[in-house]
Amino acid sequence: MKLAWAIAVSGGGKTMNAITEIILEDADLFRQQALLGGDWLGAKSKTVVDVINPAKLGVLGTVPNMGRDETRAAIEAAAEAFKSWKKKTHADRAALLERWHDLIRQHERDLALLLTLEQGKPLAEALGEIRYGASFVKWFAEEARRIGGSTIPSPTSDRRILVLKEAVGVCAIITPWNFPNAMITRKVAPALAAGCTVVIKPSEFTPFSALALGVLAERAGIPAGVINIVTGMPADIGKELMANETVRKISFTGSTRVGALLMKGAADSIKRLSLELGGNAPFIVFDDANIDLAIDGAIASKFRNGGQTCVCSNRILLQTGIYDAFAAKLASRVAQMKVGAGTEEGVAIGPMINGAAIEKIERHVADALEKGAKIIAQSDLVPNGRQYARPIVLGDATTEMLLASEETFGPVAPLFRFEAEEEAIAIANGTPFGLAAYFYTENLKRSWRVAEALEFGMIGLNTGMVSTEVAPFGGVKQSGLGREGSQLGIEEYLETKALHVGGL
Ligand code: NAD
Repeated sequence: MKLAWAIAVSGGGKTMNAITEIILEDADLFRQQALLGGDWLGAKSKTVVDVINPAKLGVLGTVPNMGRDETRAAIEAAAEAFKSWKKKTHADRAALLERWHDLIRQHERDLALLLTLEQGKPLAEALGEIRYGASFVKWFAEEARRIGGSTIPSPTSDRRILVLKEAVGVCAIITPWNFPNAMITRKVAPALAAGCTVVIKPSEFTPFSALALGVLAERAGIPAGVINIVTGMPADIGKELMANETVRKISFTGSTRVGALLMKGAADSIKRLSLELGGNAPFIVFDDANIDLAIDGAIASKFRNGGQTCVCSNRILLQTGIYDAFAAKLASRVAQMKVGAGTEEGVAIGPMINGAAIEKIERHVADALEKGAKIIAQSDLVPNGRQYARPIVLGDATTEMLLASEETFGPVAPLFRFEAEEEAIAIANGTPFGLAAYFYTENLKRSWRVAEALEFGMIGLNTGMVSTEVAPFGGVKQSGLGREGSQLGIEEYLETKALHVGGL
C-alpha cells in the first residue's frame, strides 16, 4: 500500500501544504506506535510526541510518549526473549540478520525517504546512510559465526581451562538524531549476533526510522521481544534504563553531556558501557599536501549532513604556504552549495535539525566575527526559512573562538593558520575530545610522525572518510569508550567466562 504525505505547516492540525510527491511504496513502514514484546502499542498516558519535518516545520506524525512503566515492560520482554535467543545457534542468528539486511536493502528507498522527512538530510545522503546502516547488519551476521573462545594450557596435568564467550544480556541502545538508521544498526546488529536482546530508545526527533527497522526485523522473523523500541521524551525512559538491574549494558551515541549522565546512572548497578560521544575534529593541511585531494576531503568531512556529524571537521588548520590557495578553492565550492529541503533535486545541505541548532551556529559565527574572523565565502543559494543555515567559510580563525572549543554542528568552515608541524599538532590535540582527525601531506616521514602524535581514535590520512563497517569506530578522551564496527564491535556485547575443569 502506498502512503502519500501531507504535512501541516501551520498549527491547529490544518494541512496547509500537501507534499504530494513524497510517496512511500510500503505504507506499513510508517509506524506511530512503539514496539514492546512484539506488540505495537501507544503510551499508557495516551500522550504523544510530535515529530517535526525540519524542512517545512510541519508535523510529520506522532509517537507515544512513554515513561518508566513502558520501559520496564520492554526490559522484561527483552529478558524473556533473551532466554531462547541466546540459545539459538550462531548460524540461526546469522540467518535472521541476513534476512533483516536483505529487507533493509529491498526497502532502501522508503527508508531513505522517511529518514529525510524526519531528519532533513538530502535524499542521496539518506540512501547512503541506509546502505551504510545495512552494512553493519551484514557484517555482524558474518561475525556471528566467528564468535569463539580459547583453551589455555593448564598449570597442572589434571585440569583443563577454557575461555567461553557468552552474551552480555539485555542491552539498552540509546541513539541520536543525526544518523537515525545507522547508529541503531551499528549497535543492534552486534548485540543480536552475540545473543543479546535490546531495548532501543531512539531520538525523540527521529523515531520513525527506528520503528521502520522494527517492522522489517519482525518481517525477517526475528522473534518478539528480541528488539523492543520505546519512544518518548528521554528523562523517564533513561532513568529506568539506568536503574533497572536487568539491563546489563548501555550502548549510547550522543553528546558528551548525556554520556556522562548515563555513566553516573549506570554506576549503581555496575553496567557495562559503550559511549560514542562528541568530537572536535581537526583537519590539517600541510604545505606539501595534494590540494585538490584535500579540498574534496574537506567538503566531504565538513559538509556531510550539513556539518551535523560527530566526525565532521570542526577546525581546518592550514599551513601558511597553502592557506591562500586552499581558502580560494574551498570558497568557490562552498559558494555553489545549494541549501533546501532534502527531497529537492540538487540540494547539498538540508535543514538543521531544530531551532537550537540554528542558534548555536549563529552564536559561533557571531562570536568568531567579533573576535576577528573574516567571511571568505558563503552560499546565497539558501531559501527563506527558520531552519536553514548558510554554508560559510571563515578566515583568520583563532583558538580563542567558541568554534575552536565546541562542536559547531553546522556548515561553518573556520580556517586557522599555522607555521610549524608541532604547532598544528598542539592545536589539534588541544581539546578534551578525541574522536576523528584528518591530515593531508605527501611526505612519508611526516605521515607517520603526525599519525602517531594525534590523540584521536580515528585518523584520516589523505582522506576525509573514516566510517566503514570493517574498521573500528570510536574515540579517546571525552569522546567515549569502546569501539563499534570491525571485529571489535561484537566484543562489546560478549562476556568472558573462564571454565576450569579439574579431576581429570
Ligand atoms: P543527545 O545526547 O542530546 O541525545 C542522544 C540520545 O540520548 C537521544 O536519544 C536522547 O533522547 C537521549 N537522551 C537525552 N537525555 C537523556 C537522558 N537523560 N537519559 C537517557 N537518554 C537521554 O545528542 P544528540 O543531540 O541527539 O546527538 C548529537 C551528539 O551526538 C553530538 O554531540 C555528536 O557528536 C554525537 N554523536 C556521536 C557519534 C559517535 O559515534 N561518537 C555519532 C553521532 C553523534
